[in-house]
Amino acid sequence: MTTPERYAEHVLPTYGRFPLVPVRGAGCRLWDDAGKSYLDFCMGIAVCSLGHCHPRLVEAIRHQAGELIHVSNLYQHPLQAELAEEINEHHVRLPGKIFFSNSGAEANDGLIKAARRFGQKRPHADGTRRYEVLTFLQSFHGRTLGSMAATGQAKIQEGFDPLLPGFRHLPFNDIAAVESAIRPETAAILLEPIQGEGGVNQATPEFIRAVAEICEKHDLLLFFDEVQVGFGRCGDSMAWRMTAPEIRPDGISWAKGMGGGVPIGAFWLSDRAIDRDDTPLSSLLGPGSHGSTYGGNPLVCAASLAVLKEIREQELAVNAILQEVRIRETVRSWSLPVIAEVRGQGLLLGIALDPARIPTPEGKTAALVVVNELMAHGLIVPPAGPNTFRLLPPLNVTDAEVDEALEIIRKVLSQF
Ligand SMILES: *Cc1c(COP(=O)(O)O)cnc(C)c1O
Repeated sequence: MTTPERYAEHVLPTYGRFPLVPVRGAGCRLWDDAGKSYLDFCMGIAVCSLGHCHPRLVEAIRHQAGELIHVSNLYQHPLQAELAEEINEHHVRLPGKIFFSNSGAEANDGLIKAARRFGQKRPHADGTRRYEVLTFLQSFHGRTLGSMAATGQAKIQEGFDPLLPGFRHLPFNDIAAVESAIRPETAAILLEPIQGEGGVNQATPEFIRAVAEICEKHDLLLFFDEVQVGFGRCGDSMAWRMTAPEIRPDGISWAKGMGGGVPIGAFWLSDRAIDRDDTPLSSLLGPGSHGSTYGGNPLVCAASLAVLKEIREQELAVNAILQEVRIRETVRSWSLPVIAEVRGQGLLLGIALDPARIPTPEGKTAALVVVNELMAHGLIVPPAGPNTFRLLPPLNVTDAEVDEALEIIRKVLSQF
C-alpha cells in the first residue's frame, strides 16, 4: 500500500491534502519519498521558524529527551519557568504572565476564558454580565468549539451548530463598525495584527490604535492573536509592534513559530490592574481555573527556548525585513499582470493573483492551481484564501534561497 492509500483507508479525510509525501528535511529543503527535493517556503505553515531540523533545535530536543520529557503541571520544572522568563523579558517586554498550551486554538480558548472571567469580575455599569468577544470577518482563531466560534469564516463553522455563543464578527479595518458594535455584554476584542489564513490582510495602524482606544473607553480587554505572526515572523518579535508599537495589549496568544515544529502554544495576560483594589488581570485565572496535562512540558519548553533564543541572538526578525524588501523589489521589477498585489509584512507575505488570468478546472481556486504548478517546479508554498498564496520561508532564509524561489515563481507566473 502506498502512503496516500493508507491515508484513504485509515485517516479521517478532514484535510484536502496535496499528494506530496515528505520524508526528510534540512534547512530550506524538503525531500519526498521518491528522493525529489523541494525548496520549502511553507515551513509547516509558518511553524519551522529555523528551517527543518536546525542543529540547535535538534540538539535541544535530543538532550532534553534523555533528561526529562514530561512531569505534568503538578510540579515546577525549570524549563517552563525559563521559557516564560525569556518570552516576558525579551519578546513581550511588558509585565504579564504566561500559560502554556499545545496549540494556537487552545491558546485562544484560554484568552476567551480570561475575557469571561474578567466580564464577571467587572460587570457593565448597569449590572449586565459581560462575556462577549468581538472578532473580525476573515479571521482565523482555530478549530476548537471556542476558537471556531471566534473565527469569522462561515466555511469553518458550517455544520457545527449550535456554535458557542458570545461572539460577533465585524468587518476588519472598519473603525465605525467597532464603535457601533459595543454593547453592555461586550468584554473583549480579539484580532490578528495580520490575518494569515484569511488571505494576508494587514490591520492598519489607525485601526489598531482606534480599537485600543475603544477598549480603553469601554473597559474592554484588547487581545492580539499572534499565533501565526509572532516571534519574528513579521520583522519584530511581536507583530503588533510593527504597526502600532506604543499599544499595550491585555492578552496575546501564540503557537506555530514558537516551537519550531514541536507542539507548543501559549497565552499571556497583562499584570495591569483592572480595578481600584489593584487586582492584576493576570490573577483572574487562579489555581484550578484552567489547565493542560501536557502544556509546557520539559521537552517542548527546551525546544521552544532553543528556537526563541536563536531568533533573538541571530536577530532573525531583521533578516525577515531584509528579505521582505528583496522579495518586494524583485516581484515589482517583473511587472507581471497576473500579480495583483503583494501583501503582508516580513516573512508573512501574500502574493495576490488576478483570478481572471488563471484557468481553474473543476472547482479549484486560482491559488490552488498556482500552488500545484509551483510544487511541480520544486517550490512548496501554502495558499491563503482563493486568490492568494503565501511565502513563509524560515526566518533564517538566505539571499540565495530567496532568489531561487523567486526564479521559480517568475517562471511559473509568466505562463499566465
Ligand atoms: C493557525 C492559527 C490558529 C490555530 O492554531 P492551531 O495550532 O492550529 O490550533 C489560530 N490563530 C491563528 C492566527 C492561526 O494562524
